[in-house]
Amino acid sequence: MNSKNTTRPVTRPVQMTFTDSKGVARTHVIGSGNLTIMAGPCSIESKEHLLEVGTEVKKAGATFLRGGIYKMRTSPDAFQGLGLNALSFIKDVKRDLGMPIVSEITDPRQLGDFVEAVDMFQVGSRNMYNYELLKELGQTQTPVLLKRAFAATVDEWIKAADYVIKGGNENVLLCERGIRTFEPTTRNTLDLNSVAYLKAHTSFPVVVDPSHGTGRPELILPMSLAGVAAGADAIIVEVHPRPKEALSDGHQALTYPQFQTIVEQVTKVAHALGRQVETP
Ligand code: PEP
Ligand code: MN
Repeated sequence: MNSKNTTRPVTRPVQMTFTDSKGVARTHVIGSGNLTIMAGPCSIESKEHLLEVGTEVKKAGATFLRGGIYKMRTSPDAFQGLGLNALSFIKDVKRDLGMPIVSEITDPRQLGDFVEAVDMFQVGSRNMYNYELLKELGQTQTPVLLKRAFAATVDEWIKAADYVIKGGNENVLLCERGIRTFEPTTRNTLDLNSVAYLKAHTSFPVVVDPSHGTGRPELILPMSLAGVAAGADAIIVEVHPRPKEALSDGHQALTYPQFQTIVEQVTKVAHALGRQVETP
C-alpha cells in the first residue's frame, strides 16, 4: 500500500456462481463497477420469514440476500439465532428465489455445514480479531464479508483480511459497519472516510452497512446515498416485515416501503456517477 500513490488501484472483483430461479447458473460479481444491493433480516426467524423478506427485497431490487442464524449478541439472554437447524431454510429459500445469500459464521466448527449452504461468509464485527476463524476461511474459496470491528483501525482491519488471503482465499470484501465513538445519538458512527480510503489505496471491494452504522431507520437512506457516493461497491441493509416484532435489531430494521425508497434513491446516485445497479 502506497499512500502517496495518486492512481487508484483496480478493485479485485469477487465472483460467485449461483443457480437462479429458472435453474440457470449465473455469475454474480461485486466490485466490477456496478452497485450491488444486499438486504434481508438481521436474524432468520423461520423459513416463511426468510422467504417473505427475500421475495419482497428481490421485488424491490436486491440481488443478494442476508440473514443470520448465529447471532453474536451482547447479552447471553438475547435471541442467539436459530443455529444449524435453519441451514435448511437457507438452502430452500435460495433455491426458490434464485438468490445468493450471506450469513454470519461465528466458529470454525460450523464451517463444514455452512460451506455448502451460503454463497458468502459474514464475519461479524465481534469476530474480526478471531484469527483462527479467519485462517479457516482462508482454506475455502467462498467469499468472505469481513466486517470492521467496532474499535478497529483501518490498518488492523486490512491485516485481518490478510489472514484470509494468506490462507489462499483472495475473495475478501471489507464491510464498514460503523465504529464506536463518543457520540451516543447513533448506535455507531459510520466511518465513510474508511470507504473512500479503501477505494483509494486498496483493491478490496467495499460494502457499506448503514443499518448497524447508524442504528436508526431514518438515517439509513441518507447514509446509503453517502456510502455509494463515497465509492462503495455494495450496500447491505436490514429489512423486516414488522420491525417492532423482530427477534434482533428491530429498532433499525427497514420496512418494505422504506427499502424500496432506498433502492430508488441509490440508483439515482449510482447513475449520476456513471455506475449501473445490478438488477435481479
Ligand atoms: C449483523 O450483521 O446482524 C451484525 C451482527 O453485524 P455486526 O457484526 O456488524 O454488528
Ligand atoms: Mn443486525
